[in-house]
Amino acid sequence: MMSLDGEIVGPGDPAYEEVRRTFVHRGRPALIVRCRSAADVAAALDHARTHGLAVAVRGGGHHAAGFGTNDGGLVVDLSGLDAVELLDRDRRLVRIGGGATWGPVSKALAGYGLALSSGDTADVGVGGLLLGGGIGWLVRRYGLAVDAVVAAEVVTADGSIVRASATERPDLFWALRGGGGNFGVVTAFELVAQPVTDVVFGAVQHAAADAGAVLRQWSRHAADAPEELTTAVNLLPGGGPVTVQACHAGGDLAAARSALRPLLGQHRSCPTTCGPSRTRRSWPTCPDCRRASGSCCAARSCGGSRRSWSTSSSPRRRRRP
Ligand SMILES: Cc1cc2nc3c(=O)[nH]c(=O)nc-3n(C[C@H](O)[C@H](O)[C@H](O)COP(=O)(O)OP(=O)(O)OC[C@H]3O[C@@H](n4cnc5c(N)ncnc54)[C@H](O)[C@@H]3O)c2cc1C
Repeated sequence: MMSLDGEIVGPGDPAYEEVRRTFVHRGRPALIVRCRSAADVAAALDHARTHGLAVAVRGGGHHAAGFGTNDGGLVVDLSGLDAVELLDRDRRLVRIGGGATWGPVSKALAGYGLALSSGDTADVGVGGLLLGGGIGWLVRRYGLAVDAVVAAEVVTADGSIVRASATERPDLFWALRGGGGNFGVVTAFELVAQPVTDVVFGAVQHAAADAGAVLRQWSRHAADAPEELTTAVNLLPGGGPVTVQACHAGGDLAAARSALRPLLGQHRSCPTTCGPSRTRRSWPTCPDCRRASGSCCAARSCGGSRRSWSTSSSPRRRRRP
């Protein structure tokens, strides 16, 4: 029997239906170990070894292949390891649990005036995204999410709890930085966060028929845009709208306006109401046609596009449809 801080969930337990599944997959594991410490992870791995059970490690459970669950094996559920700590204010050094998800992490860091380049979805796990690289709204300014990692606490396959960094087990540290979940279970990451307070985030929608022109304009602009600006274009099958999303992460609102202006299409002016704010704010009216935001897309005076912008103390995380 395992001795744990966390708990074990098996078929028949009330929580089983909920915890056996991930974002896209519904497994039927024999056992789910909801870990609360590195020692719990070591105990779970020991149990799996002893009983010959296949192991799945789950962070945020968002991997498209469903690696966060399995059939008949043991799931190491890290969601209880979600603490966010500021270790050193001057060095902006933070420690984040290996099972945390980016939404709460972003909120916790915003309280310190800090942010990490992560992804676009609040429920995605810190573990899976960091170990795979991580592309997010601050990527052009601060690089991949994994670039911020300076150390990790890792439980290796034999149950040892070790620390990996540039100077401690550097080969393991090298492998973790892009090697996915294949080299051990990371129970905590140490990262250097970035000083980010105000961001401007928004989206402009265009008609599908304008996709070519929108893409040409966007790629011309992206080539020379300042690094504070990260953008993405979403094209939907079946003639859905073309959405240009943009995040400007820099304290200077005038610079944000200037960087965003070329993306606005026929909306020539950037909102005048978008003063830096620590509180998220959205625009109730389109500044070009003064109609309610979202309803102007049908108005000829707005050129068939619509947009919404907001400022926030940290990048908005959006759940994908
Ligand atoms: C809706 C959605 C939006 C996304 N947006 C972005 C985005 O903006 N940018 C981006 O870069 N990616 C994005 N992704 C991809 C995402 O980063 C990967 O799917 C990632 O693997 C998910 O991590 P997770 O912890 O949530 O998933 P899980 O399924 O829990 O884990 C993924 C893999 O990592 C392993 N793993 C997880 N945590 C640990 C840990 N602590 N120690 C060891 N191994 C671990 C798991 O075993 C598994 O193999 C998105 C995915 C989805 C579904």
